Amino acid sequence: MGYDDAPAGRAADRLAVAEPPRKTIRARRPLTPQALVERADVAPRTAEAATVLRIYRRRREEHAALYVAEMRDLASLWTEEDEGDEKTLHALAAATGLRTKLGRGETRLRDAHVAVTDLPACFSRVAAGELPTDWFEWLLRSVLRLTSHQRRQVDERVAAWQVDAIDVERFYRELRLLIDWFGRAAVQETPREQRAVHLTPSPDGDGTGCLTVVGPIPELLALGHRLDAAARAVQDAQRRALETGGTILYDVDGDVARDGRHMPLSALRYAILTRSRLDTGGVEVPEPAFRLSVVVPVLTLLGRSNAPATLDGTIPIPARMARELAAKAPAFERVLADAATGDYAHAASKTYRVSRAMAENLRLIDPVCAVPGCDCTVMSVGESDHIEEFDLEHPARGGPTAIENLHRLCRRHHRMKTAGLLDPVRDETTGVTRWRIGEIAVCDARRDGDLVTRELGQHLRRAWEQYEADLEFEAILHSGALDESPQERLDAIEEQRWGEHLLEYWSRPDTGGAEDPDDPGDPDDPGPPGLDPRCGYGPPPF
Ligand SMILES: [Zn+2]
Repeated sequence: MGYDDAPAGRAADRLAVAEPPRKTIRARRPLTPQALVERADVAPRTAEAATVLRIYRRRREEHAALYVAEMRDLASLWTEEDEGDEKTLHALAAATGLRTKLGRGETRLRDAHVAVTDLPACFSRVAAGELPTDWFEWLLRSVLRLTSHQRRQVDERVAAWQVDAIDVERFYRELRLLIDWFGRAAVQETPREQRAVHLTPSPDGDGTGCLTVVGPIPELLALGHRLDAAARAVQDAQRRALETGGTILYDVDGDVARDGRHMPLSALRYAILTRSRLDTGGVEVPEPAFRLSVVVPVLTLLGRSNAPATLDGTIPIPARMARELAAKAPAFERVLADAATGDYAHAASKTYRVSRAMAENLRLIDPVCAVPGCDCTVMSVGESDHIEEFDLEHPARGGPTAIENLHRLCRRHHRMKTAGLLDPVRDETTGVTRWRIGEIAVCDARRDGDLVTRELGQHLRRAWEQYEADLEFEAILHSGALDESPQERLDAIEEQRWGEHLLEYWSRPDTGGAEDPDDPGDPDDPGPPGLDPRCGYGPPPF
């Protein structure tokens, strides 16, 4: 049967005949305060013991009550519809309330629904303070791939365990055994279901990224073999060309001709993979509407600052790499940004169409969908949208086609906004957009103003302060307030001369001054001899 495993749903057929076993899971003794303190391995009746008990009681009572109340609220926002707008709207509202990202909001809604609907017995044990919330969250994650019917079977069994007294390892072990009973399909996605490609920029911002291809191993192995064979063939051809003096093929950076060495296999595999034409089975793929953008602060470009640049609006790249990219680029687009706010300098337009330049600028302002909490990247697939609708018949009345009145949205949220489910209103003075999410929630979002990096901002501010200080200093110099009189200058020279004289005298071994700092010295020491007066000046005033 190869790697094509039975999908999760089919496991349910098997269960028509058999049910998971009902094991009796009991603790050897009840979990009394005394037993808890013993398990915590702290001395009874100490401050530590009191703290452990306080944490335990707070979890059991206040924490459990808050958790249950929140889950009930979230569950009430759940809708059965699979991919509808209402579902998204509710998830957005939940994410707003939780102050989390949209994806997390969706997960919390689903979990709350599963908790209330499919795991009611365990959920009521959480409410009673008997099943810790952490355990319950683990239970939720464990049953996600089960059918509703299977979840209830799990719920019934786990709720019958003595969860208020067994220890945590026992719970996790027994739960795993119970879930395993439903088969591997219940625990893990099949290799086919896991097929995916992910791009992860390096978290160090070092200018590298990682492309991960996940899928059934036979398919990936075959790809690996094909790639390897291609790289070896190219390498052999390069080797032969170097030996015979023939034309060097596939010399990507000209290194082979320059160094007289064929490319290494790893570099060849990379070059072949990244330059491959993609097979889409005859489907036309439109040219990308936008270029790959690199935003480089001008001081970085000039080598005066190392503030990082961004690639496609979201991925930081090192200053050096940005300079190299800029050096190789055939053309630049200069974007003027306000140094303090990072806002663009721009001009409004009376036409509905968003100009190409405006669209390019917009995608730099909103590299991710402007809807609060949505983290869809809209650099290439998003849509430009008028915040206040453009009035096609009376252009002067509606919202203008200007950067201030435009933002970029992901396709789903653009559709929902057009349908009136999402309604943004931007405050002209503050630039803050107030979003009304259906009839459920309202949330404010500040417009992205991160074009100028914080480092660069500080750099510019410091330069400005220095400039102002220099101006002030110059003004004082010009006023002559700092000028010394000829007498003052001569006094200073004389002070210096006496200082050096004294220092030299007390440092000599015969005067003993420098030998021992605690030695009071010879009280009869007459001290250093006087200096010849210079130009008629006496000893300084000390
Ligand atoms: Zn969105």
